[in-house]
Amino acid sequence: MLDLYWVAFKSVFCFLNMCIFVKILSKKGITKIDYRMKNLKERILELKKEKNAVILAHYYQEADIQDVADYVGDSLGLSQEAMKVDADIILFAGVHFMAETAKILNPSKKVILPDLKAGCSLAESCPPEDFKKFTEAHPDHIVITYVNCSAEVKALTDIVVTSANAVKIVNSIPKDKPIIFAPDKNLGKYVMEQTGRKMLLWDGACVVHEAFSLDKLIALYKKNPDAQIIAHPESETHILKTANYIGSTAGMINYVKTNPSNKFIVATEAGILHKMKQEVPDKILIPAPSNEDNTCACSECGYMKMNTLQKVYDCLLNETPEISVPDDIMKKALIPIERMLELSK
Ligand code: SF4
Repeated sequence: MLDLYWVAFKSVFCFLNMCIFVKILSKKGITKIDYRMKNLKERILELKKEKNAVILAHYYQEADIQDVADYVGDSLGLSQEAMKVDADIILFAGVHFMAETAKILNPSKKVILPDLKAGCSLAESCPPEDFKKFTEAHPDHIVITYVNCSAEVKALTDIVVTSANAVKIVNSIPKDKPIIFAPDKNLGKYVMEQTGRKMLLWDGACVVHEAFSLDKLIALYKKNPDAQIIAHPESETHILKTANYIGSTAGMINYVKTNPSNKFIVATEAGILHKMKQEVPDKILIPAPSNEDNTCACSECGYMKMNTLQKVYDCLLNETPEISVPDDIMKKALIPIERMLELSK
């Protein structure tokens, strides 16, 4: 009987302790979810050390993932960083083609991706078999592809570009050489306008950057006439026409840091706002609205958002899913990526 009283006493004691603990946490503004996330972040950081791994994350990843990364950047920065990694494992928090590029640039490392289904509408718009036929039909053309494509498409390419260096690289091609530009027609149109070069464009697009609503953007600007509009060149021409600045994600971050304006309307994937807020905490950053009436009033990439903090943890723990690229494709795809890195210096 005494034992029963003792067990009951202990249970009540534990319950009260738990209540006090939860109360302290909520007084400090820490919810149960915050606490679990904090725990998960700490476990990821421990696991990273234990496994000798680095985490490379794209600006479009959710904020919690960016917080545990060793490097956060755009496609160009991530490629340059992937090449330098000498840890055993690269966990790539981004989409499939980015992890593939890291593997091609640093093949002796184990490259893992939290969700293998994290693809890209641009990469999917350019199936390698169709692209091969397209290039074969224009054998005199230099083939330039935006990095947002599969390793197989890169293997059919002369020079890869990112949004940060596309204009510079196209300008470096002799004027008499005709050019195929794939897969992003919007970036292609922008590059044609900037360089004055006519290019043969592949008909691909990014669903996230095509989702911006011009009408809502104009309405938003009317309410914020003191704002600067900044846009990624994957956006459609009518959106780019409204912009005070057009550039890659890294370029956009640099612009909000250096431009004296205090308010910006940002037309790219909303994940970038996390990094921007860290860089310019006192400035006002408003995401450009999408056609869809969603709760964030912004445009988010469903592929990028397939990666979660829990998946990052599981991926590091199990060292899977792993990225593999066939040797022959890897060798062929490396050449145009290295050309890009060389021309970006
Ligand atoms: S934002 Fe667009 S280009 Fe970038 S990964 Fe998503 S679908 Fe692809």
